[in-house]
Amino acid sequence: MSEDTQAPEPLAGQTRADLEAFCAAEGLPRFRAAQIYRAVQAECRLDMEEVTTLPLSMRTKIMEHFGPPATETVEVQVSDDGTRKYLFALHDGKRIEAVMIPEGKRKTVCVSSQVGCPVRCIFCASGVEGLIRNLSTAEIVEQLLRVTADLGERPTNIVMMGMGEPLLNIDAVTDAIRLWTDKDGLNFSPRRITVSTAGTAARIDRLAGADLGVHLAISLHGSDDKSRAALVPGSPEGRVQQLIDAAARYARRTKRDATVEYVLIAGMNDQLRHAEYLADAIRGRHIHVNLIPLNPVKHRPDLRPPSIRDARAFADCLEHRHVSVTLRTQRGEDIDAACGQLALE
Ligand code: SAH
Repeated sequence: MSEDTQAPEPLAGQTRADLEAFCAAEGLPRFRAAQIYRAVQAECRLDMEEVTTLPLSMRTKIMEHFGPPATETVEVQVSDDGTRKYLFALHDGKRIEAVMIPEGKRKTVCVSSQVGCPVRCIFCASGVEGLIRNLSTAEIVEQLLRVTADLGERPTNIVMMGMGEPLLNIDAVTDAIRLWTDKDGLNFSPRRITVSTAGTAARIDRLAGADLGVHLAISLHGSDDKSRAALVPGSPEGRVQQLIDAAARYARRTKRDATVEYVLIAGMNDQLRHAEYLADAIRGRHIHVNLIPLNPVKHRPDLRPPSIRDARAFADCLEHRHVSVTLRTQRGEDIDAACGQLALE
């Protein structure tokens, strides 16, 4: 499609080079590109009308060319534990969510990459209606910019663990991460960003090749191919060992952390034999395991987390087999902001 039939990405999806090209085409001096870029990516000002350091005629030109921001904040819900859940509306009326989780000095933002999700983990609300569409770069970038503006400070960590499967939208996700980590933007350290994925091995290799310097989390949930297929029916990668090997390769190549995420569900994947399989698949590789007791979800009231005792026994079993492991606690449950509770409704 040619430039004039397709609307350009909203401002938040534009690189500095894009803005320099825009300024050149409009006969604007080059320093204006840097100024626009900084206003958006570093100062998180998405509404050009407020950027009064730019002449009015220029702001009008920018708004005409790039259109309105990609997102609009509809609602911010605050949990008793300080967790904040943001509901954003998109230009086509679709809605997405982002969550900010405070923990000591940390402020972690959980960002969405798609509307809906094709992976359909049976225990996750985000996949109930399948995939609706990919998010654009601007729609991903703006989630962080809006949360930063709302907090009045830059969050400390980003996890790509909201709605959607980031590696099935890898180009937009990669572009968003490059904007967040740009020194003239928010200058976010890639070491404080984690991309979470259900697969595939090939996409994980591609992410390693993109050389973003981010950490990787693999959503495994099953310790053998059969139980993983039952829990993650839409998984783009069925083979447990392939995923674990790809994660280990990622860690080796990028010198960043690779972790395995494993949601514990009573009676389904929480028995000691599952822990033994998992330990066998991981042993000898530099991979950390995060055990996450299931958060209840409305669409599957039959699924429950294990007792604390059983969860500990699972963790101990891994530890005895020399696998490094953490047993996680829950946040933001009272506002449906916990992992797996982000839904389209
Ligand atoms: N599609 C990507 C990103 C989504 S984040 C991925 O699969 O990695 C997915 C993570 O959310 C899972 O690894 C799991 O840690 C968490 N999760 C999803 N549903 C959950 C639930 N009901 N309870 C606890 N954690 C859940």
